[in-house]
Amino acid sequence: MNAAIIAVGSELLTPTRMDTNSLFLTEKLNALGVEVVQKHIVGDHRERLESAIRYCLDHVELLILTGGLGPTEDDLTRESVSNAAGRALGYDRAIVEALEARFHSLGRKMQEINKRQAYVLEGAEILANPKGTAPGQFLRLASRQIIVLLPGPPGEMKPMVEAEFLPRLQKFLPPIALSTVTFRVTGMGESELDSLIAPTYKLYENPVTTILAKASDLTIHLRAQAPTQAEADALTAELAGKIEAILGQRIYSKHGEPLEQIVLSLLEERGQTIAVAESLTGGLLGSRFSAVPGASKSFVGGFITYTNAQKQTLLHVDPRAIAEFTEVSESVARQMACSAQQLAKSHWAVSLTGYAGPDGGSAENPVGTVYIGIAGPRGLNKAVRYRFPGGDRDRVRAFASQAALGLLRTELLAK
Ligand code: ATP
Ligand code: MG
Repeated sequence: MNAAIIAVGSELLTPTRMDTNSLFLTEKLNALGVEVVQKHIVGDHRERLESAIRYCLDHVELLILTGGLGPTEDDLTRESVSNAAGRALGYDRAIVEALEARFHSLGRKMQEINKRQAYVLEGAEILANPKGTAPGQFLRLASRQIIVLLPGPPGEMKPMVEAEFLPRLQKFLPPIALSTVTFRVTGMGESELDSLIAPTYKLYENPVTTILAKASDLTIHLRAQAPTQAEADALTAELAGKIEAILGQRIYSKHGEPLEQIVLSLLEERGQTIAVAESLTGGLLGSRFSAVPGASKSFVGGFITYTNAQKQTLLHVDPRAIAEFTEVSESVARQMACSAQQLAKSHWAVSLTGYAGPDGGSAENPVGTVYIGIAGPRGLNKAVRYRFPGGDRDRVRAFASQAALGLLRTELLAK
């Protein structure tokens, strides 16, 4: 079955509010094998809403609307569906009585205007709303298409979806088994990854493949559906095997764990420890390590040396190196890592120094330039220069911490 979602509400077209209902709905629908093929966001405007509904009914089997079920004049969902789908609205006394009882139990008197919420599309089932006043509706048309009306507030919509909507929907869906595989990859850009694996995954419609990118951390999702679990698993296994063969070690996680957790596991397997020395990331890397439960087995702590003075005082960076090469240099990165390793008495240390921007940098080393230093067992001490797209401070810092973890993983696997 395929589906469209219409999020109704003029506030969703402003810069301050975002349609999140459709994300929740899509997750739930995908889990049942229903694919969302369209989403629309429409303001509180009768003609526009009706035309969006008509458009969806021309294209999909399931149409879900959220919002616009309130009692006020600008809540137009019921009337618009009625017009577009050609189903009359009937007045449901039971809803009014339930509304009156709800207001009474809250010690308030129901307003006349709330009666607007008692209009139900002819033939629709009522979806109870224990968290609010607007009931939902579930309507099956002669065309076998299904239209569902849900309230806008997420706190009302979500429980209604779980308790009222999905159980009804399931009766119209074939039994289905789902299989998913998640790979996480780092050290390359989204387009580079896609150009490597697209020729392979494009050959498959089932599983569906999606790539999610965040600060050079890429997640590949494979999702297959089949009548039985064994068949669904076989579908994902076949494509997963091919993708693994292409990417090899660039896949750092096959079960969704973040890179910091993988690095800590590698350290723990080797009985080794790590310290950090951070300048531009100001503790971001240490924070990522310490967020992993049980991090203390391998993560000892570290140094935040933001100014040159701190780099000299805490990490004994040679002022002559700073004068000669600047603080964003291979020499300084190596010294920071080396000192951190010695002072923390850890097996490994990683350092970060660079220009996060938006200002600063030099012609040679513009904003986005980062040196990552590593000190490790058997005298390993080196630094690698990175150039991340400049201009966005948070992104540079996120990229830098990710690159440091990626570099560590590579060194750990090589040892
Ligand atoms: P009410 O009885 O509260 O008026 P309603 O069904 O008419 O219910 P709306 O008026 O459309 O719902 O939305 C109420 C509030 O719910 C909005 O102000 C917004 O905060 C939230 N909301 C509505 N739609 C969405 C959406 N698609 N995603 C996230 N939040 C939403
Ligand atoms: Mg409303």
